[in-house]
Amino acid sequence: MTAIDRGTVWLVGAGPGDPDLLTRKAERLLQSASVIFYDALVGPGVLALAPPLARLVPVGKRSGRHSKDQKTIDALIVEAALAGERVVRLKGGDPSIFGRATEELDACRAAGIAVHVCPGITAASAAAADLGLSLTLRGLARRLTFVTAHTVKGQSVDLDWQALADPQATLAVYMGKAAAADVSAGLIGAGLAPDTPVALVENASLPERSTFHTRLDLLPLAARTALGDGPALLLIGEALRQRDPAGPAQSGASVLADAGTTGVNSSYGSR
Ligand code: SAH
Repeated sequence: MTAIDRGTVWLVGAGPGDPDLLTRKAERLLQSASVIFYDALVGPGVLALAPPLARLVPVGKRSGRHSKDQKTIDALIVEAALAGERVVRLKGGDPSIFGRATEELDACRAAGIAVHVCPGITAASAAAADLGLSLTLRGLARRLTFVTAHTVKGQSVDLDWQALADPQATLAVYMGKAAAADVSAGLIGAGLAPDTPVALVENASLPERSTFHTRLDLLPLAARTALGDGPALLLIGEALRQRDPAGPAQSGASVLADAGTTGVNSSYGSR
């Protein structure tokens, strides 16, 4: 049974939101923590698994909203471990994917603190499951690229569009909502077909999740109109042309079928 020693730190992947998508190891670690520093994307269902006496400390981390800066988070974790606590640093998805894990690992190691990582299900895997499709396709989508399109407010994203515009790849764009117009223009400018299928998945794995199918040239409009406030992933590539006959994609007009519209917001669950 995995438990945390006093004075050690675990970076734990909380998965995409659904508490049933936590690993068993993550759940055990949570249950043996004395303090849990958690990101804003970690939902109440996961936090409810913490032991009643554990201290739950929000440390923010949603773009555009107030949160503690990375150095402060590093210092809090180190301080708690040095005080002999059993520390869990709980991060959305997988800690090693766009999760600033390196800074926290380095800070612990520099302070002589034992630190370990427990992986989690990343948002792209949960989004594919919600869409009922595969992110890779034999012969058609041979490469899967995770990319962040996080932008500093007011600036456009600076990505290597030539390298990303591969018709045989699936792109999973994290933190891409605000940069949807740049992503669309950048990829089309680098030669990717304007009718390349795109899916937007918001709140993957959660009851309020929604999925939306569109195409690359209509992505900016779709991102503006179809997405709400939740975390969202942009998935781009031929693999997204697959449709689950029983799924929401059949529930109305689709941009792929009718290039003149932005499609319908086809959601599972309660929306
Ligand atoms: N470490 C995380 C990613 C952190 S970056 C992971 O492995 O999933 C935060 C971004 O992840 C969000 O801006 C969004 O693009 C994506 N994301 C996280 N949770 C999500 C969810 N439930 N549904 C859709 N996208 C999600």
